[in-house]
Amino acid sequence: MRIDLHTHSTASDGTDTPAQLVRKAAAAGLDVVALTDHDTTRGHAEALAVLPEELTLVTGAELSCRLDGVSMHMLAYLFDPEEPAFLAERELVRDDRVPRARGMVAKLNDLGVPITWEQVARIAGDGSVGRPHVASALVEIGVVPTVGDAFTADWLADGGRAFVPKHETDPFEALRLIKAAGGVAVFAHPAAVKRGRTVPESAIADLAAAGLDGIEIDHMDHDADTRARLRGVADELGLLATGSSDYHGSRKTCVLGQYTTDPEVYGEITRRAFGAFPVPGAGGA
Ligand code: AMP
Ligand code: ZN
Ligand code: FE
Ligand code: FE
Repeated sequence: MRIDLHTHSTASDGTDTPAQLVRKAAAAGLDVVALTDHDTTRGHAEALAVLPEELTLVTGAELSCRLDGVSMHMLAYLFDPEEPAFLAERELVRDDRVPRARGMVAKLNDLGVPITWEQVARIAGDGSVGRPHVASALVEIGVVPTVGDAFTADWLADGGRAFVPKHETDPFEALRLIKAAGGVAVFAHPAAVKRGRTVPESAIADLAAAGLDGIEIDHMDHDADTRARLRGVADELGLLATGSSDYHGSRKTCVLGQYTTDPEVYGEITRRAFGAFPVPGAGGA
């Protein structure tokens, strides 16, 4: 069984539509794929409508969080997408991305870069707008050669010249919301140092005590030493260890199924979710 628990579509900053993504996942020989767009579940209906028979879709989202000033991402799986409190929080985070992206365009204009909001909005389409869309606009007008090159202090990296922060959820609140909606919570790429500051191990322990289910370990942004260290953390804290591609279509270099999750871990995630689902408002289950 090949299981990839973290991918993005055009519902956020991936470049494949949800339909294209599930077809490619099946063609890549995956048995299970999770669609985890940033702060939204809106790609799920399309993915489910055309889901190849041999593929299982894990519904999910990647929630933008911040702890003590450090941005972090929380993967939420198999929650009730209609549960009102979590839905409202996702909408808040997603809606705030628009004025924030406009703010980054304004900063770029002040730096003499002739990018427009219309251009970014066209690239983002109806997906949650994010820095990768702004980065694609910068590639389009020849300011940087690749999307990755826009994530520097000169441009869009955390604290960079054109960076604007967005609303991000407290991760302890995120855990409460995910659990109350019957979902399972996995801390995405917890040690992805090239993206900026990361949270200390003590914070992972605090999150584990607050109900965190797992951490994503096998990920392109973790080197071998980091993975070994994180396996130790997961063992010590009793956390599930996942692996995934964080596929973004052509906006990133990784391919579907580049890293995968152990079937036993996947089984445990589904047991935890379906044991609690759907019990809206039950809390903490
Ligand atoms: P945003 O949520 O709008 O702040 O954008 C964050 C997204 O940008 C992440 O989810 C990644 O997909 C992408 N990203 C962050 N850091 C980098 C980087 N160094 N290189 C390429 N993409 C990045
Ligand atoms: Zn992304
Ligand atoms: Fe992420
Ligand atoms: Fe991601």
